[in-house]
Amino acid sequence: MISKPPPPAHSPMTQFPVVDGCLQIGGIPLTRLAAQVGATPFYAYDRSLLDARVAQVRAALPAEVKLHYAMKANPMPALVCHMARLVDGLDVASAGEMRVALDSGMAPEDISFAGPGKQERDLARAVAAGILLNVESAHEARLLAELSARMGMAARVAIRVNPDFELKLSGMKMGGGPKQFGVDAEKVPELLAEVGQAGLAFEGFHLFCGSQSLKAEAICEAQEKSVELAIRLAQFAPAPVRLLNIGGGFGIPYFPGDAPLDLAPIGAGLDSLLSRVAGALPGAQLAIELGRYLVGEAGLYVCSVIERKLSRGQLFLVVDGGMHQHLAASGNFGQVIRKNYPVVLGNRINGEKRETASVVGPLCTPLDLLADRIELPQAEEGDLVVVFQSGAYGLTASPSRFLSHPAPIEVLV
Ligand SMILES: *Cc1c(COP(=O)(O)O)cnc(C)c1O
Repeated sequence: MISKPPPPAHSPMTQFPVVDGCLQIGGIPLTRLAAQVGATPFYAYDRSLLDARVAQVRAALPAEVKLHYAMKANPMPALVCHMARLVDGLDVASAGEMRVALDSGMAPEDISFAGPGKQERDLARAVAAGILLNVESAHEARLLAELSARMGMAARVAIRVNPDFELKLSGMKMGGGPKQFGVDAEKVPELLAEVGQAGLAFEGFHLFCGSQSLKAEAICEAQEKSVELAIRLAQFAPAPVRLLNIGGGFGIPYFPGDAPLDLAPIGAGLDSLLSRVAGALPGAQLAIELGRYLVGEAGLYVCSVIERKLSRGQLFLVVDGGMHQHLAASGNFGQVIRKNYPVVLGNRINGEKRETASVVGPLCTPLDLLADRIELPQAEEGDLVVVFQSGAYGLTASPSRFLSHPAPIEVLV
């Protein structure tokens, strides 16, 4: 029989305590939580971990830096309401997200809307709501000028800049080179003149270079370059810069060998950037926006073992959840090489007898693989398979209609 060597194992996940071999979420044993939810699969997000993560970021970064939550990482309304009380602003990427952000009680002044292809109807809703629009093109600026005139209120705008550099070593690059995001830095001066003539309420700049970086030095370098670029562009601005949003890109460890991001150098870097900003752009606030880093590690995806299946010497645990509900864990959300997310048996963490198994979902495609040949305690039907690091880009980043299974429940515990 041909057998590939098994993939490397993860370092243990420690954010959820284990009592008598069972994971605890918000102080509740997983088995009891599953009974409370009433069905698997489900996503569970732990409030105390959200609180702790925000507190950790606040402690590591200078107090003057505003912390925004980028909602697309996890737009569950209850979670957004919880985050709204912890952070200084919400960043939305669609009119649908804007509605949840407004419902959360966050002040419209502190909500911003970024993303390419905003349509006139989305822009009109945002102008009416009084939120800040991160303008991604001259086309958007013109639509906003028309809308502002028609509605008798000046749209609040920041220019999203496509910088002439990128976030090195990041999982996803969203700035530098030709991009659909933002306005190329070299075209910004001309756009700023148009924004001034159109009477739009200019408030600042937005830069977002990339996502999922575990390298503090790379993040510091991108932040420094972002601030320098914004200072250069500010000389063409029709009004003083009030807000300078330099993005985020903070990553979390998913795969074997990943080490957690070290926030200390980022805090030190931001400290010196604050003085730079205070000197060059007096009155401007510095903001960062984080999605994944704030919520990713606080979430679990939980499914049940339906069947143990042995095929030509390889054991498959067939579970009731899969790639339709957690695309990222199956390796199909932006990964170049498939690697296992951290997966455990949540009700039987340290079973004595161990075995190697692949965890697969109920879809008729070999892509529906949640874990490829990992070592687990010997599993029984009904055991709860848990995927860690599932609080960001989980359910809403998945093709949940694929194969017409019912949607999973999400709970905030
Ligand atoms: C996706 C996105 C974010 C969030 O990125 P994370 O990697 O989840 O922190 C922030 N800002 C913008 C503009 C985005 O598009």
